Amino acid sequence: MATQKIVLRYNGHFEQSCLDKIVADIQREYKIPVELIECHSDISIFFDPARRQYDANKLLEFIDSNTGPYALKTIAIFRVDLYIPILTYIFGQAAYKGKSGIASVYRLKNEQYGLKPDEKLLHERLRKVVVHELGHTFGLIHCPNPECVMRSSTYVEDIDQKKLMLCRKCKNELALS
Ligand SMILES: [Zn+2]
Ligand SMILES: [Zn+2]
Repeated sequence: MATQKIVLRYNGHFEQSCLDKIVADIQREYKIPVELIECHSDISIFFDPARRQYDANKLLEFIDSNTGPYALKTIAIFRVDLYIPILTYIFGQAAYKGKSGIASVYRLKNEQYGLKPDEKLLHERLRKVVVHELGHTFGLIHCPNPECVMRSSTYVEDIDQKKLMLCRKCKNELALS
């Protein structure tokens, strides 16, 4: 059997240095090799013209139905504005104990909140969202530890409070699963 990998798919332009960091984060936290794949999927069918946003549930389903056989997990990153019906926007979404997750930089940008652009901060936020969403695919639930990357985040400030790592308790749960 071929080695199982976590596949990181990126749609749209992401700086190579940022992608490299995400790959390193995933490998460090989940101890599984990562394959980086550039994608040019047409996601226009997931655009909701009334909300001017993309339907994250449908997008996640689409990613989930297009994973390779060697992909243990697939995480896809985007630049578009994502929503689910009950929320104004989301940073990311994943199937609990599933195979796939998605994340977007759109709502992570300082500019969305009237602040000056900050590339480094933006990349850090995205890296945290990716590690967080992957955690859900591995069966991790939201963690009460304020520093843990599995803590839930409603606002970008919440993401900034977290560290870019799983706490010991979450790491232990991963090892047991
Ligand atoms: Zn979550
Ligand atoms: Zn935790």
